[in-house]
Amino acid sequence: MIRAADRTRKIKYAIRDIAILAKQTEKEKKVIYLNVGDPNKFDFDTPGHVKKAAIDAIKGRHNYYAESQGVKEGIEAIVKHNNKLGIDTDEKSVMTTYGVTEGVSTCVAALLNSGENMLISRPSYPLYPAALNLFSCGMKFYTLDEENGWELDTRDIEKQIDIKTRAISIINPHNPTGGVYDKKMIKEVINLAGQHDLVILSDEIYSDLILEGKMHYTAAMSGEVPVITFNGLAKNFLAPGWRIGWLAITDREQKMTGVRDAIMQLGRARLCMTTPLQHAIKPALEKKKTHLKEVIRKMRKRRNIICRRINEIEGLSVVKPKAAFYAFPRIHAKIDDKDFVTGLLKEEGVATVFGSGFDMPGHFRIVYLPQEKLLNEACDRIERFMKTIR
Ligand code: PLP
Repeated sequence: MIRAADRTRKIKYAIRDIAILAKQTEKEKKVIYLNVGDPNKFDFDTPGHVKKAAIDAIKGRHNYYAESQGVKEGIEAIVKHNNKLGIDTDEKSVMTTYGVTEGVSTCVAALLNSGENMLISRPSYPLYPAALNLFSCGMKFYTLDEENGWELDTRDIEKQIDIKTRAISIINPHNPTGGVYDKKMIKEVINLAGQHDLVILSDEIYSDLILEGKMHYTAAMSGEVPVITFNGLAKNFLAPGWRIGWLAITDREQKMTGVRDAIMQLGRARLCMTTPLQHAIKPALEKKKTHLKEVIRKMRKRRNIICRRINEIEGLSVVKPKAAFYAFPRIHAKIDDKDFVTGLLKEEGVATVFGSGFDMPGHFRIVYLPQEKLLNEACDRIERFMKTIR
């Protein structure tokens, strides 16, 4: 018998793991997939000029290995875009990655020794526990405040810091809660990071998909502490399958030049990111993001439907998400969240993700991207299922 390495045992990804059961269920009934946050599975598409740039790059024979750090014009565009937002970074401090997923995992590998830890939110987003587990690093959870619109609780963050803590991750806007943090809260996190010499990892993959108010203050804007900001084309530009992400380091006092070198070194060890698709970064970031108006209009409407319908179902309640396309309802009925999700899938053919997959039992995550008719159909099925468990 040939065994798998121990380090793989703790790697879980509930969002995708549930798809295996959904495929089996499909043999018996039509499944509504509300487990993966992929707008392109519904009536959303990558903006035309962004697609054209990638196609032109392939036709124009940009099919060679790129530089490990990224295609030069893409890197320049990322720096310009960040600087315009007030994020201080430069061309030495940006790298393109296989989505934010690879960016985070590279930073964990470059920053934390095994046994050291990073603070992550509860509910968590699974890529963080997966990366930390892979490199035998610890994670300490700070709990978001559901009673207070899933707000950051900086007192809890402070409580979790210990001598092995090296970094704090903030996902803003947040998946799965749809929370968006304001300047005051981010400043409090920055103060804590400053006091304890921690790096902030700021995941801003949903930065343009804000349904209430405008884009917020982001951690790198103060320039007071080292911050690594993550973004990409997956969500804001509706191109998740391209796997185009990037990281940008802000380090005014040059406290983490060694970490930056280590990140670039790890980048070289995996050769480079897909070359032609990187040619879409510059047109995406430099042209007006006119597609967003319609995208946000649709998402806002669907968000309102899901919240109204879920809150009308006895035994469920949900905090209204302010951004992105997920809701994270609470289950008040006496049922384990895994049983709830598997029951809902098997009985009614609705695929969602159990809260314990985000380290927060008693909840489930639902994607509200489908058109209204399908979304209402999913809500009817959830309502019917809830009647069977009370
Ligand atoms: N970060 C968060 C908070 C996400 O929700 C997701 C995907 O859903 C990712 C990162 C993954 O980003 P990418 O597709 O760029 O790897």
